[in-house]
Amino acid sequence: MGIRSPASPAAQRQSGLELVIALAGNPNVGKSTVFNALTGMNQHTGNWPGKTVATAQGRCRSEQGDFLLVDLPGTYSLLAHSAEEEVARDFICFGGADATIVVCDATCLERSLNLVLQIIEMTDRVVVCVNLLDEARKKHLRIDLSALEQELGVPVVGTSARSRKGLNTLLERTAQVARREYCGHVIRPHYTPAIEKALAVIEACLKPLSPEGPSVRWLAVRLLCGDQSAAAQASAFLGYPLKQDPAVCDAVARAQAILSEDGIERQKLLDQIAACPVLWAEGVAAEAVFPADSDSNARDRRLDRIFTSRRTGIPVMLLLLFGVLWLTIAGANVPSQWLAGRLFAVQDWLSARFMAWGAPDWLHGALVLGVYRVLAWVVSVMLPPMAIFFPLFTLLEDFGYLPRVAFNLDHCFKKACTCGKQALTMCMSFGCNAVGVTGCRIIDSPRERLIAVLTSSLVPCNGRFPAMLTILSLFFVGAAAGPGATLLSALLLTVVIVLGVGMTFLCSRLLSRTLLRGVPSGFTLELPPYRMPQFGRVIVRSVFDRTLFVLGRAVSVAAPAGLVIWLLANVTVNDVSLLAHISGALDPFARVFGLDGIILLAFILGFPANEIVIPIAAMAYLSTGTIAELGNTELHALLLQNGWTPVTALCTVLFSLFHWPCSTTCLTIHRETGSLRWTLAAIALPTVIGFSLCFLVASAARLLGIS
Ligand code: GDP
Repeated sequence: MGIRSPASPAAQRQSGLELVIALAGNPNVGKSTVFNALTGMNQHTGNWPGKTVATAQGRCRSEQGDFLLVDLPGTYSLLAHSAEEEVARDFICFGGADATIVVCDATCLERSLNLVLQIIEMTDRVVVCVNLLDEARKKHLRIDLSALEQELGVPVVGTSARSRKGLNTLLERTAQVARREYCGHVIRPHYTPAIEKALAVIEACLKPLSPEGPSVRWLAVRLLCGDQSAAAQASAFLGYPLKQDPAVCDAVARAQAILSEDGIERQKLLDQIAACPVLWAEGVAAEAVFPADSDSNARDRRLDRIFTSRRTGIPVMLLLLFGVLWLTIAGANVPSQWLAGRLFAVQDWLSARFMAWGAPDWLHGALVLGVYRVLAWVVSVMLPPMAIFFPLFTLLEDFGYLPRVAFNLDHCFKKACTCGKQALTMCMSFGCNAVGVTGCRIIDSPRERLIAVLTSSLVPCNGRFPAMLTILSLFFVGAAAGPGATLLSALLLTVVIVLGVGMTFLCSRLLSRTLLRGVPSGFTLELPPYRMPQFGRVIVRSVFDRTLFVLGRAVSVAAPAGLVIWLLANVTVNDVSLLAHISGALDPFARVFGLDGIILLAFILGFPANEIVIPIAAMAYLSTGTIAELGNTELHALLLQNGWTPVTALCTVLFSLFHWPCSTTCLTIHRETGSLRWTLAAIALPTVIGFSLCFLVASAARLLGIS
């Protein structure tokens, strides 16, 4: 049970007794794992920072009470420099939380404590959850939790969220804090004497307002720093315009005069305020963390020498890509055939039922031969490769490999004047372009985010693999089945994907130099530690969250598409089907690009789901009026009979790689950019590339006389 909200997370309490708990923390410390373990939800977890780009809410009922948990985006600070920081800050201060759990990484506690101290300044209803204790133990780090509790003055609970250890205690202590039963006294960082003196003036003025949300101290610091956004939020919260109150304005002016006397101008003030929690965190960590003498990160460094070094980083990445594709291809064949057999057998059964009921032919045709048959095809072609590809991809993600891909490709993206994080969104696009487009939210700069969105469909999604693979194997691998043929198919597919990646760099660079000019923003992507993936969870999560989700979407668009295709193939004008009329009209145009009218029409009809392109083409060639069920040998013979050559095959693969995104991706692009113009640009970009490349190949073949 849960609600996702993109930006402003107003907590929706079910009853007055329900406690609202915010979950804050640095990225990649296990916040979503804690959230999922407590709520039973399936918020996306993965071993890379920045994947929680929106907030999620979920409920948890326990002996300690009923909780509404709000998972905030991971941040390193709450100074509202980015959208995520603003969302997190606003919820903690003004979102009506009864308590905030700050999840910390036990293996680098000092960095997590910096955020803890910032939150402690905002509210005293804080519980510190020191997570990843099992990893800290492996690294021979000992954390003195009671010393930490004494240093901070708020409850500190140690957890290993992945194995659910410590979560009950966490709930218990959170309930105490939320119900104001905890009697500790929060210890807040102190600034330099001059800043403290200035703050005292503003605090004295704000105290009578006694806001229920943020602490007076935090508000005083923000007003002293001239933080307009915090002042505006606080005013809205209090229902009282702080900046127009003469007493508040006077207090701020007096406080600033105190600072001026001490020679502290604005920038120096901001630096000192930002430095204070960092220095405090260092001191607190020194009291509570006891590091081992041995180099606890030696194993990660050894792995990084393989995965990210200049010499081996890219070759290993290509090898892994090849390996994933090979396993997908080798593993999907048999289950695909098995599924097709079962699902088409159901079709025979359905046909028999329709006949027994005396249903008219058109109804049987439209529902069974149209809608059901297309659905059966989509499921049997898509499900097995997805059920292999997604778990493999998720295992690499959980292991911590994806940020290494971003690291390896950072140089290329910099050269294209874009952000290295685009490598991550590109990786997500391999699964599903629409998911890649949503993932672009992790890129802060709007210019770079737009470039990533526009180029997202230049890499093939899972739905396009089957068509490309079938054609590559039929025309370039040969009829022989077996391990050699599978390896060669995987190799050719790798080459096609590398072409898509190369085109992404090229287009990003062109966009950066023309429509979307600008310098690449600096980006720091932390390389997380390598973690042993949780195999069981990864499989369950990737099958349910990703595979079935993508399949469900494909199925929901394939069903109406099946009806349209059946109608086109069966409604005739002058004894010729509409499908044949339209493909005939498209033919002269398509031939300029090395395709034919039927292939082009199949791509147009495949707009809802790319995986139905080849079956539509086969159906049109056979003029059967229903989607064809053919073995590879029959399909190869059928294509040859209809004039296919290796040039046609190459152009079809290129067009499959570069053409308009599918309907779901287009809708997602429109939702993310909020602009019809940019959505049209995202459709035009791959389409123009596809037609241009096909034209070049077809023209070269015609010149050489090999078409
Ligand atoms: P978030 O970014 O803070 O939401 O972090 P996630 O919940 O996505 O977790 C990041 C990674 O840490 C994932 O690979 C988790 O499986 C892993 N993880 C989370 N908690 C623990 C833990 O207690 N022990 C270990 N070993 N791994 C954990």
